[in-house]
Amino acid sequence: MAETRSTCPYCGVGCGVIIESQGARITGVRGDPDHPANFGRLCTKGSTLHHTATAAISLQSRLLHPSHRPSRGAAPRPVSWDTALELAAGHFARVVRDHGPDAVGFYISGQLLTEDYYVFNKLAKGLIGTNNVDTNSRLCMSSAVAGYKATLGADAPPACYDDLKDTTTLFITGSNTAWAHPILYRRIEDARAANPAMKIIVADPRRTDTAGAADLHLPILPGTDVALYHGMLHVMLAEGLVDEAYVAAHTNGFDALRERVRAYPPAEAARLCGIAEADLIQAARWFGAPGSRTLSLYCQGLNQSSRGTAKNAALINLHLATGQIGKPGAGPFSLTGQPNAMGGREVGGMANLLSAHRDLANPEHRAEVARLWGVDSVPATPGKTAVDLFQAVADGEVKVLWISCTNPAQSMPDQNLVRRALQRAEFVIVQEAFGTTITCDYADLLLPATTWGEKDGTVTNSERRISRVRPAVSSPGAARHDWATVCDFARRLESRLRPGQPTLFPYDTPEQVWNEHRESTRGRDLDITGLTYARIDATPEQWPFPEGATTGRARLYEDGVFPTADGRAKFHDAPYEPVAEPRDNRFPFSLNTGRLRDQWHGMSRTGTIGRLFGHVPEPSIEMNPADLSRLQLAAGDLVHVTSRRGTLIVPVAASESVALSQAFIAMHWGEEFLSGSTSNGVKVQGVNAVTTPAYCPTSKQPELKHAAVKVLKAELP
Ligand code: SF4
Repeated sequence: MAETRSTCPYCGVGCGVIIESQGARITGVRGDPDHPANFGRLCTKGSTLHHTATAAISLQSRLLHPSHRPSRGAAPRPVSWDTALELAAGHFARVVRDHGPDAVGFYISGQLLTEDYYVFNKLAKGLIGTNNVDTNSRLCMSSAVAGYKATLGADAPPACYDDLKDTTTLFITGSNTAWAHPILYRRIEDARAANPAMKIIVADPRRTDTAGAADLHLPILPGTDVALYHGMLHVMLAEGLVDEAYVAAHTNGFDALRERVRAYPPAEAARLCGIAEADLIQAARWFGAPGSRTLSLYCQGLNQSSRGTAKNAALINLHLATGQIGKPGAGPFSLTGQPNAMGGREVGGMANLLSAHRDLANPEHRAEVARLWGVDSVPATPGKTAVDLFQAVADGEVKVLWISCTNPAQSMPDQNLVRRALQRAEFVIVQEAFGTTITCDYADLLLPATTWGEKDGTVTNSERRISRVRPAVSSPGAARHDWATVCDFARRLESRLRPGQPTLFPYDTPEQVWNEHRESTRGRDLDITGLTYARIDATPEQWPFPEGATTGRARLYEDGVFPTADGRAKFHDAPYEPVAEPRDNRFPFSLNTGRLRDQWHGMSRTGTIGRLFGHVPEPSIEMNPADLSRLQLAAGDLVHVTSRRGTLIVPVAASESVALSQAFIAMHWGEEFLSGSTSNGVKVQGVNAVTTPAYCPTSKQPELKHAAVKVLKAELP
């Protein structure tokens, strides 16, 4: 039996795993006791990874050969890699020549490795000359990026997991950590056991397992986070809990914010949030108590919002106002949902970013990246972000779309738009490991990809720690590594777009890609010029890790200097604004979406394991028992859940964890479980039949956490 150290491919905790294999078969998995994220522990998803590897093969859900669909609706036919990539390069070259580079687009994934992300970004922005490369991380953490940049000056989570040991107050807001980041939650439980005086506050509209275990649960109304944080700051100002010396020495803009939060006295803020005034005051006191060390953990409740940037920034305001940042046990700490959303941010793998935290809008940054890549320029025109990209495809503006390692036909909001886009596109390439995703049904060309247990490269977890992903078995069938497919395609496209010139993609190994990425970070806030594959092989390390460093930096801003023009952090001054689509008499329920403990995304991997259905065996819409009684519904009744965009049919479940006039549906359930249709009658799967494409104007992250719906008993024939 062979053993291979690697990393779990699910959430952003980034747990180390040891893969056991015999020949071409993965036979077991256990936690890596030496990995600093998990010290040997794994949750239910991580500990069943080996079953998913074997089930995918035995259930024949893996894509094993490239295939081409000669016409829409026809069955895909196997083709050689050579035929597939020549076909793809021909389509791209024709469209770029006839319609310009912005007529093509890429929609990629936070589950790709950093090396995959890097070459996709270079292909789009360096070779083709379009910034139309966005990612499903847009649905996951782009508001966290925007919040950090607006306040601290750079997209860098300043805290680390070890901070839990020194925390006196843990503020979990917009995160069901117990289910979405289970091993981090185990560390929270350990920290609390070691320090029983630690206070845990949870702000969440639902009484989740995380909220149920808190000292104080603030069941705020959906979308009212900014009002809560402003109200807490009002209390801190009134009670002398603001660290005026820190504010004076290290920040700008506090006077405007001080004026702003005058309008949020605790009674008013509590009214807006639908919570008790005394609870809001208590939260502010625990957060800002003299001598306290407060750590805030936050995730999609803040990010997946039409006010996502304002929510992130208003929370960071509290840390700056109390000086609770850059100290052991204190700081704002965004959690990433996907295993490598962080790595994607590092290489600039989004429509508005460039490599190594450079900004597309900055001409000097564009020139630096062009020099690094050896191209004349990087285009200045902003790329289309996720929702706008699919809108542009639906409008015929983007004609060729390459989708990699993600399932937008299930996971994007407003499936009406997404299905129209996929049908309208002239040519859709889907690069996937699993042929069971509904997006594959829209592909003109299917490119088989390797997956966990087969891939080789790096990922970065929520605490900026870079870990190796290593292959335990060889690629099945003709499946190829994503970075290798991109490079092969890019070289074929180069021969059409810039014939006779040296290739921009001279890589034979992922390590060569990594080395180029590493060099692009020189002198930047995330400088990793001291990190080689050999170094990460020895120990997963946190960035920054510049040349000459002996260890990564656990915590940022300990010196109170921020990566802004004058070294000072900036308070963000924005009012509370309600959700984009408030509930009303026609659509009287606030629908929330989120994760289950034992499932992952669209279930293409976890859905192959029977025991993972033991926790929650089937889909439902969870509603408060009083609402069920008012609607004369009983648990198990089928209901129509209808928004302005579509309808779902789903059984109803009674749950005290959901407040009155609210409802919750898990995001995972797909075609086999949950049927629905858009307002145009297009058949769709999952909760995104009804979600809204409204997004934050700054981060462009959609409001997956709130849609106004009505719920009516389904009349059965
Ligand atoms: Fe994998 Fe996340 Fe579970 Fe760790 S906590 S084993 S990274 S799913």
